[in-house]
Amino acid sequence: MLNPFETEERRAFQDNVRKFMETEINPHVDEWDEAGAYPHEINEKVCALGVFGFDIPEEYGGLGFDDMHMRKAVGIEMGRSSAGGVMASVGARSIMLKPLSELANDDIKARALPDLLSGKKGGALGITEPGGGSDVANIKTVAHKDGDEWVLNGQKMFITGGMQASYFVIAARTGKSGMGGISLFFVDADTPGFSRTPIDRKMGWWASDTATLYFDDCRVPDAHLMGAENKGFYAIMNNFNFERFLMAAQMTGMSMRLFDDCVAYAQERETFGDKLIAHQVIRHKLADMSARIDAMDAYLNQLGEIINRGEKALAEISKLKFFCSTNLEKNASDAMQIMGGAGYLRGNAVERIYREVKVQAIGGGSEEIMRDLSVRLMGL
Ligand SMILES: Cc1cc2nc3c(=O)[nH]c(=O)nc-3n(C[C@H](O)[C@H](O)[C@H](O)COP(=O)(O)OP(=O)(O)OC[C@H]3O[C@@H](n4cnc5c(N)ncnc54)[C@H](O)[C@@H]3O)c2cc1C
Repeated sequence: MLNPFETEERRAFQDNVRKFMETEINPHVDEWDEAGAYPHEINEKVCALGVFGFDIPEEYGGLGFDDMHMRKAVGIEMGRSSAGGVMASVGARSIMLKPLSELANDDIKARALPDLLSGKKGGALGITEPGGGSDVANIKTVAHKDGDEWVLNGQKMFITGGMQASYFVIAARTGKSGMGGISLFFVDADTPGFSRTPIDRKMGWWASDTATLYFDDCRVPDAHLMGAENKGFYAIMNNFNFERFLMAAQMTGMSMRLFDDCVAYAQERETFGDKLIAHQVIRHKLADMSARIDAMDAYLNQLGEIINRGEKALAEISKLKFFCSTNLEKNASDAMQIMGGAGYLRGNAVERIYREVKVQAIGGGSEEIMRDLSVRLMGL
């Protein structure tokens, strides 16, 4: 569908990302997924595209500008590649860069941002705990002040990129219960008292390294407190908006891939003496999928433009997230049905995306929480 906000520069940026995915990522997705890992140099190659540098000054290796339409393009092409696990792991840095670049002190920024943006080192964001992820205001990991250090104790769970990350942004309780008692900390992976174990055997995102993190009297310098003490919750919520926008774009890209693959199949496959695509029931499924994709795409364009113009669009981002995950779920189901038994076999994008719908519907703010939040943000 025509994008009214497309420019030559945005088109060239997206084409470059797509070309990279088609040559460097797509041919290896099945192999890396089955292996449960991907080559480390992929981090550097993806980062070299400049896809994580939005809103970060050039002196730190960033792009020095922001553009939601280009952020959308990154998500679309990552989603279209169907390399969910690889992109989750490489992209884990993207969900900790905003608090890092906005709240960390200059020393930490000068040390960590160039490493993260060049892909030399990995980063991860630790909010979720074994006790729960939706109720962020109720986290249990604690940090108490001891002289000129903070001492962290607790656990974080489901942390994407957590096994290979060198740098972490961690939420911990520093004050009273509830949202007003949470702070953010920068933690180096080699800090004494920090350890991690992998979480394997996931439903999807097989190529990604997901970790449980442990903090046992883990001491970080006072300067590793990011932003004001007890104000971390607001930074977490602000950060979530960019993560959710990117996930929505990924889900749109995933839907585009589902559509393309099942159309290609339906044009080849014959049943009852005719091409599959000639049967009206199949054509109606394709019409439904295409209409949902257009709506997801248009919603992203509209919100991207509104945010570019300075609006926060908070309720709309929450609605966008569950709108995209519910539509992705329908698209994955329709695409799988069109492919029949062939779709059920491992080693094809439709099967992989079908398994990776739920992490999009749960991670980064579940559908239930997004519905609840959007209604609250509408003032109802
Ligand atoms: C593969 C993967 C990668 C992840 N990566 C990261 C990461 O890098 N960093 C990080 O911090 N977290 C990460 N997460 C965690 C993710 O953000 C959480 O799983 C998510 O926020 C939901 O939290 P939960 O799983 O603890 O579910 P819970 O909070 O226990 O909720 C369980 C279910 O109940 C629903 N629910 C909860 N409260 C209500 C309510 N009040 N009303 C109605 N329904 C409700 C939820 O929507 C959910 O469906 C990841 C998760 C996965 C699966």
